Amino acid sequence: MARTVLVTGGNRGIGLAIAQRFAKQGDRVAVTHRGSDVASGLYGVRCDITDPAQVDAAFTEIEAELGPVEVLVANAGITADTLLLRMSEDQFGSVLETNLAGAWRCAKRAATKMLRARWGRMIFISSVAGLSGNPGQTNYAASKAGLVGLARSITRELGSRNITANVVAPGMIETDMTAELPEARRKQILDGIPGARFAQADEVAAAVGFLASDEAGYITGAVLPVDGGLGMGH
Ligand code: NDP
Repeated sequence: MARTVLVTGGNRGIGLAIAQRFAKQGDRVAVTHRGSDVASGLYGVRCDITDPAQVDAAFTEIEAELGPVEVLVANAGITADTLLLRMSEDQFGSVLETNLAGAWRCAKRAATKMLRARWGRMIFISSVAGLSGNPGQTNYAASKAGLVGLARSITRELGSRNITANVVAPGMIETDMTAELPEARRKQILDGIPGARFAQADEVAAAVGFLASDEAGYITGAVLPVDGGLGMGH
C-alpha cells in the first residue's frame, strides 16, 4: 500500500537515496530543500527545519498535496567540527538546533496526524559518532546521541498507537559531508572499519526502508547501525 513519506534533507546525499527508494516502491514522497532543485518523482517543499513556522507550513502543504505524513525520516543534519576548547557557542548551538531540535520539531508535528491514524513510522538518522563519540564533534555527537533519547521517549509515549520510532546510525557514507575529510583522516578512519570500506547512501536507505515496512512493526526504540562494524559494542 502506497504511503506518504517525508524525508528531511531529501534533496541530496543520504536523504536523496532514502527518498528515491521509497519513490521506487510507489510511495508518495516529499523532501525538504532550502532552495535547491529536487530530483524528479519527489515532491519538494522548501523548509529550514530550524524554523518552527516553516516546519508547520511544510507539513500543511504536504498534507494538502499528498496526504498526512505516515512515514517521517528525520535525516537533515549538519556538522561544525572543531575541538572542544575552540568550539564557539554558535557552532554548538547551530548543530544542536538543526540535528536535534529540528528532528524533534518534525516528529512533534508528524505525531498529531499519526496519532489520529493510529499508525506511523519515525526514523531518525543518527551517527556512529553519537554512540562512540568522536574528537572534534562534541556538538555533533551530542546531537546524534540525543536522537536516541528522543526516539525512545517517543516509543514509550506513542508505542501503544502503532507508531514506531527507531534510530539508524550510519558509519562512514560517501556523501558531500564525508567528501570534506582530509585524506589522512579518511585513511585513519578506514583502518578502524572492520568492513574495510566506506558505504554508499543506498545501504543506509535499505535499513530505513526496512524499518518503515509492515514487517518491522514490532521493532521500536531500536538503534540500527549501518557502519561496517565501526561502532560495534555501543
Ligand atoms: P549532506 O551534507 O550531504 O546533506 C545534508 C542534508 O541536510 C542536505 O539535504 C541539507 O539541505 C539538509 N539540511 C541541513 N540543514 C538543514 C536545515 N536547517 N533545514 C533543512 N535541511 C537541512 O549530508 P549526508 O547526506 O551525508 O547526511 C545526512 C544525514 O546522515 C545527516 O543527519 C548526517 O549527520 C547523517 N550521517 C551522515 C554520515 C556520512 O558518513 N555521510 C554518517 C553518519 C550520519 P541543503 O541541501 O539545503 O544544505
